[in-house]
Amino acid sequence: MPNTLSHQIQERFLNRRSRIFLKLENLQPSGSFKSRGIGNYMQHMLSRASDPNKVHFYSSSGGNAGLACVNAARFFGRPATVVVPNSTKPMMMTKIRAAGASEVLQHGAVWKEADAWLRDSAIPDAEKRGEVPIYTPPFDHPEVWNGNATLVKELEEQLEEGAPGVIICSVGGGGLFNGVVQGVELAGWRDTTILAMETQGADSLHKAIQQGEHITLPGISSQATSLGATRVSERSYELATTNNNVKCATLTDAEAAMGCWRFADDERIMVELACGVNVALCYGGRLEQALGRAVKPDEKVVIVLCGGSNVTVDMIAGWKQEFKHLHDEQSPSEKETVASAACVTNGSH
Ligand SMILES: *Cc1c(COP(=O)(O)O)cnc(C)c1O
Repeated sequence: MPNTLSHQIQERFLNRRSRIFLKLENLQPSGSFKSRGIGNYMQHMLSRASDPNKVHFYSSSGGNAGLACVNAARFFGRPATVVVPNSTKPMMMTKIRAAGASEVLQHGAVWKEADAWLRDSAIPDAEKRGEVPIYTPPFDHPEVWNGNATLVKELEEQLEEGAPGVIICSVGGGGLFNGVVQGVELAGWRDTTILAMETQGADSLHKAIQQGEHITLPGISSQATSLGATRVSERSYELATTNNNVKCATLTDAEAAMGCWRFADDERIMVELACGVNVALCYGGRLEQALGRAVKPDEKVVIVLCGGSNVTVDMIAGWKQEFKHLHDEQSPSEKETVASAACVTNGSH
């Protein structure tokens, strides 16, 4: 994909329990890995459009998917309109406008309503105006997964001594997860565990695996809004139930917030809660707990640092104030004070 960056991987001494490698997706043009999948989808659709010069992209995401859509559209020299619900924060609307959206419209109370209005009304109207409108889905499309899978292709070159023991990624609707699993299968990494992380209250995959049924959550109670898909893609459920190397785990919002503020202190990198949930595993023995096994000191653990723009200095400072109790030692430190609330399910069960 021309509109993504092949970013470096960095080994970081976040703890002494294993070798931690960060795949720095936070540095993608849109601030998250979504540039990969959504950029790839858009390129695919644009190259097949009846009249590429009339293509107008549409997204209903007030989050990182909307930002990725606008960013890629600008790269392709095409306009992008983002429809967001009234619940979208002004900060994110400002960021989407600043990224170059031709329009940011507010419609409906929640995402479902904004999305329905976009599909049922805004897109048909655009067609009548003579545009070639292209709806941009946040996660549920094979071209999104193909784009996300490129990050594993890069890992193959970047991890010189071969396969990692663990790859950690977070799960919203599962577009990133599908790409990672696909990439790992393609790489032939048969012994690599893929650890799928969610926050409690946005744990649509974890609950589905636990219940042995592809359920839809009644609602989202986690503040990690980028993980807030009430139902994961069909493909994610299928992969998590058939691939023996997949493990699902959850942490609380408080732990994700701890991950964010400690990571900001340790590495001077700001990420949103949806990403902090992965980083939190580096602290307090949470990784071992989530994996349900010991990690060797020389074992390579890759964290997909998915990134995200829903974070500010003030938010990080607030999380530190609120969740200081989860770690009152100065980092980096191995002394842990509070046991993890990790909740683990084996993907293959
Ligand atoms: C979208 C997003 C996720 C979840 O990705 P899915 O493909 O929906 O599973 C995780 N982290 C960040 C920062 C995101 O923007």
